[in-house]
Amino acid sequence: MVSSILAKDQNVLIVGAGLFGLSTALHLAQDGYNNITVIDKESLPNSCSAGNDLNKIVRAEYEDPFYTGLALNAIQEWQTPFWSAYYRSTGYLLTTSLNAPQKACDTIKKSFASIKDHPSIPPGSFSAVDNANDIKEYVPMLVGKMEGWSGYFNRYAGYVRAAKALKYTEMMCLKLGVKFVTGDNGSTKPTHTVLCVGAYIGTLLPSITTQVIAKSWAVAHIQLSPNEAAGMKGCPVVNCRDLGFFFEPDDDTGLIKLSANGAGYTNTVSAAGKSASVPICVNDGMPKEDEELIRRLIQETMPQFSGKELLNKFICWCGDTSDSNYIIDFVPDTEGLLVVAGDSGHAFKMLPVAGKWVERALEKGRQSIERWKWKNTTKGSHEISWRVGKVKDIKDVELSTSKGQV
Ligand SMILES: Cc1cc2nc3c(=O)[nH]c(=O)nc-3n(C[C@H](O)[C@H](O)[C@H](O)COP(=O)(O)OP(=O)(O)OC[C@H]3O[C@@H](n4cnc5c(N)ncnc54)[C@H](O)[C@@H]3O)c2cc1C
Repeated sequence: MVSSILAKDQNVLIVGAGLFGLSTALHLAQDGYNNITVIDKESLPNSCSAGNDLNKIVRAEYEDPFYTGLALNAIQEWQTPFWSAYYRSTGYLLTTSLNAPQKACDTIKKSFASIKDHPSIPPGSFSAVDNANDIKEYVPMLVGKMEGWSGYFNRYAGYVRAAKALKYTEMMCLKLGVKFVTGDNGSTKPTHTVLCVGAYIGTLLPSITTQVIAKSWAVAHIQLSPNEAAGMKGCPVVNCRDLGFFFEPDDDTGLIKLSANGAGYTNTVSAAGKSASVPICVNDGMPKEDEELIRRLIQETMPQFSGKELLNKFICWCGDTSDSNYIIDFVPDTEGLLVVAGDSGHAFKMLPVAGKWVERALEKGRQSIERWKWKNTTKGSHEISWRVGKVKDIKDVELSTSKGQV
């Protein structure tokens, strides 16, 4: 056991109540730390949080085996009684469509190779799919043509009911005595501050913007009737790398969440000779080109719903690093300030386990995992190995809103 330099009654202030902030508060409180405060701009469900959505994919395949191991730990946790009400083990179909860029096909091959014979995964969890008929064998709810689709089906995966899981985590934190403060009225004097503000980190800590770039992706929902929802019940998560992904209908609302894949959109602003991407709330709209991708995804897989209106269009922000590694480290030249950033669009699945990583760094007073260290030299990059397409600025694309194009 590592001795801790953090006393149980030390005042720890966590800024940001997304997955990292809440998971950190939960782990600290569960381990007996009794002076934890979480502050956020808004109360949950929080429109600025990347996790405030119906659902997020939970899968363990990564190009990098380090994250495969972490995600497998997380999946085990999701299946325990503490978390299982929020996890759905539906399976996960990962494919490319006809004429997909080579990069998308290569990414799938790397994901498959990283996981198919992993000793921690039940044997027989993976099946290659080479055409639409193969896909329909594993995902019979998909009745579309899916011409030229191929990839694999993973039974050891699913999704989490994201916003509900955050709310639950907050409730468990409250039970353990964690204090929550909303807005600007925090008057705590912390010995340690943990910044977990997701894509907003550059607005509080401009020095990190050489490592973390705020980027966004489009999300929308379609409404199913109770009969239609019953027909799609149990549908695995479907992710077509060059189009987008979707989930089974939400139990409570019958909404299917769909998101477009791509390299992401920045919102670059300049001040005092420096420029950085900062999140901008778009709560009624999405890039028109993403709406087209989502429409193609629906047409290819579930054409019976292609006439449905896209509802609740919005863009969702995360903080991208060039190698998709998180940053969980003390900020150089500061006293007790730890930053948790660079979620790189793949952190939500880690909700049950991420807080433990932050707790370890706080207790040791340093980060010993090389890849999670603050990097003075790394330049943020738009070239991400597993993302398809070209990064664009949100100001340069046409938006489609519920009222029409803008
Ligand atoms: C389109 C999209 C799809 C995704 N899909 C998946 C997926 O399928 N599976 C998966 O595992 N991950 C997925 N992710 C990634 C996942 O959503 C994020 O990694 C995760 O939610 C990031 O959590 P966070 O705690 O870092 O930030 P957030 O959840 O964004 O939380 C940050 C919090 O900080 C608060 N805040 C901001 N500024 C301040 C301030 N100045 N003062 C106080 N509070 C502040 C905000 O209000 C917010 O509550 C996806 C991301 C996107 C963008």
